[in-house]
Amino acid sequence: MKLLITHLHEGENRFHFESQRDSWVREITSRIAQAGYTVRGPLSVDINLTKLEPDYYLKGKMDFAVEQTCARCAETYDLPIAHPFDVALAHVDTNKVKAVAIAEESEVLDVNFFDGNEIELAPIIEEQFFLSIPYQAVCKEDCKGICQVCGKNRNAESCACVVPKISPFSVLQEQSIL
Ligand SMILES: [Zn+2]
Ligand SMILES: [Zn+2]
Repeated sequence: MKLLITHLHEGENRFHFESQRDSWVREITSRIAQAGYTVRGPLSVDINLTKLEPDYYLKGKMDFAVEQTCARCAETYDLPIAHPFDVALAHVDTNKVKAVAIAEESEVLDVNFFDGNEIELAPIIEEQFFLSIPYQAVCKEDCKGICQVCGKNRNAESCACVVPKISPFSVLQEQSIL
């Protein structure tokens, strides 16, 4: 999806895209799938692009659900994600010298670069998708996980196993007995 900067208005430019309607968003979800992530249901993207000649400021939000594996019980579940993001788009032609300085200065804000008259949205959205995925996700806050002794999913069935407590002092205790 290329946005022609000559078609943008002064100030804010709002766009809404969704996978059911926009093929380029569906193409993103299939590339994401190749990377091992299954998007469940629709993926929508809201974008507000503000012209700050010669640069642009993009404020966006992605909404979707992605299939995840719980870090505690290893069950798969759908994780809903609402991911807001801010990206500064610096025009390369006019920022040749400034480019590195902008990237270094801006630790909070993502800075992308574009040249010519077009802003290509797909790579920005794709990058934001991966940034939105949590490093470790659990299916629910109180997920009981898998029993370390018998291997049962303790959300589904309880067991009477006693999980041995391993403390850093246990080694010292053993040594003192000897
Ligand atoms: Zn779980
Ligand atoms: Zn058990």
